[in-house]
Amino acid sequence: MEKDKKASEKRILEKTLEQLYIEKRAPAKGFFVLLIIYLACTFGVSFVAKSQSSVNINGIDISIYTFAGVISSIANIVAILLTVYYGKKGFFTALTVLLLQLPMIFMGIFLRKTYTSIPGVFGNLAAIIAIIVIFINNIRIDKYQTKLREQAVTDMLTGLPNRFACSELVMDFIKRGTPFAAVSVNLNGFKGINDTMGFDVGNAVLIEVASRWKSIADNGSSGTLDFICRLSGDEFAIVIRHYLTEDDILKTINLYASALKDKIEVHDYSISMSASFGYAEFPSDTKDVDELFTYANIAMLKAKENAGLQQVMRFSNAMMDNLYTAELESKIRAAIENDTIFYNLQPQFNMEHKLRGFEALARMKDNDGSFISPGEFIPVAESIGIIDKIDSSVFRKSARFIGNLIKETGADIMLSINVSVKHMMRADFLDELITIMDESGIKPENLEIEITESIMIESMDKAFECIEAIKKMGIQIAIDDFGTGYSSLSYLNSFPANLLKIDKSFIDKMNSSDSSKQYVAALISLGHIMGIDVISEGVEQQDQLDTLKAIGCDYVQGFIWGRPLSPEDARKVVLDSFISPVP
Ligand code: C2E
Ligand code: CA
Ligand code: CA
Repeated sequence: MEKDKKASEKRILEKTLEQLYIEKRAPAKGFFVLLIIYLACTFGVSFVAKSQSSVNINGIDISIYTFAGVISSIANIVAILLTVYYGKKGFFTALTVLLLQLPMIFMGIFLRKTYTSIPGVFGNLAAIIAIIVIFINNIRIDKYQTKLREQAVTDMLTGLPNRFACSELVMDFIKRGTPFAAVSVNLNGFKGINDTMGFDVGNAVLIEVASRWKSIADNGSSGTLDFICRLSGDEFAIVIRHYLTEDDILKTINLYASALKDKIEVHDYSISMSASFGYAEFPSDTKDVDELFTYANIAMLKAKENAGLQQVMRFSNAMMDNLYTAELESKIRAAIENDTIFYNLQPQFNMEHKLRGFEALARMKDNDGSFISPGEFIPVAESIGIIDKIDSSVFRKSARFIGNLIKETGADIMLSINVSVKHMMRADFLDELITIMDESGIKPENLEIEITESIMIESMDKAFECIEAIKKMGIQIAIDDFGTGYSSLSYLNSFPANLLKIDKSFIDKMNSSDSSKQYVAALISLGHIMGIDVISEGVEQQDQLDTLKAIGCDYVQGFIWGRPLSPEDARKVVLDSFISPVP
């Protein structure tokens, strides 16, 4: 019973594309509408023909029976439409009705002597001839179209349905809400076969693989209902339906994978072949057809990375994150390679709004020209160990700019640079500092190195020597994101910092409660006790500024007085602050 059901489902599946074509040609509802009009006209005509009454139009009496010709013409037009749009079904319906009309008309003429029906006989015969001619002509056109249609939905090399057929089928399932798994399949090492053994061997391999897979899809041995097609090159797709559990999908895919176990013998070669499979499900993963195949493809690529270990992967959202990170990784590498990392300068002020200097912040653009946030690319650059390259690039470029600006204006301003541990731990870090200072002419007292508090704690022992050396050179040291790293007093006391930077998160909530305000006040006092200046980061509002003034903060850096600026705009800020207007 179950087997019969599967077989009939299979036929349905194979006919789906044909059905879709027919649906596109004319809507099914139209057939019934035409049929009703047709039957109404057919019966209406004999009723009207017998009518003795008349209607008055613009003062002229017109007998109702004269309309019989009009109605009969409408019926004939509908018969022709049925034949044109609904093929065999339309033709035989129209022909049956037309033929049934003939005896009725003849009976009228010979028995009831209604000679007015004689023109109707000719009309009827003309319509029959017309629909027969149209039908025969349609058969010829249909044959040609069927051939074209087959070519359009078939992959010429393997005989499997092609990408177009696959997407039409899948769209139909989506429209009907039928659940299915979309499997993206890619042969492993196929390019190598093409490159080393030639296209003929490559093609023969594809034909053999396709035929093994097609026979699984056709004989129903997987227990699920499968549709296999070739998308392009060595890319295939399987659409699996009628599964109950995730396990059923895996079993089916494994069956396709195991079909490649036997070596492929072509042109005197004996070739081992395997494939990577990735899948996503409709509707649980997504309801969008493009997204579904993208997801399946992402999973397939993941399976390919593990080729040999895990040949089948199910899509998961974590893969999207990995993909994004991998993409970002290559963008960062390219930006470093092409030297397109640039920087902004965010001004820092004392509480009287006098410029202290700028923090250099790394910037990077995406391919479409939009900015990628440092919050995204800095952690990725850190994780792949190339953050030091970004640090160096920002350091070198901003130092050159600020060095020149100081020379030009005589302004006494600081340049703060973010330094990662990886960068600071580099054997040549101190040499780099000296080289950059030489090149840019920036003096050590105008240079400040920012080290985040958490990093300072983690790498205290290793970094300490380096920090001491920096300090000896006369360069300032700032502890960044202060308050987030739980550094102990003893650490702080032994750390040669000049500046504590209170993290934005504390400034954000500072005015929301008395205890938050006290906390910031305590951080500031802590700095002052140890002789360290304090700057608050991320100050955006006037009430925050008022509080900070009241609790004795030394400096602010925040959108309220200045966003990160292009070097040109930063130059204007320096000129405005240090060059007094000519009286
Ligand atoms: P950070 O060192 O704490 O830099 C301050 C961040 O706070 C900057 O974000 C700045 O634009 C933002 N900011 C400053 N004032 C305000 C404000 O009033 N409101 C708001 N909403 N934000 C404010 P940005 O430029 O996105 O940098 C993020 C982080 O990326 C930096 O945090 C820093 O840790 C890292 N970073 C940036 N450039 C470099 C670099 O060259 N090297 C290294 N290692 N890290 C960098
Ligand atoms: Ca910083
Ligand atoms: Ca910070």
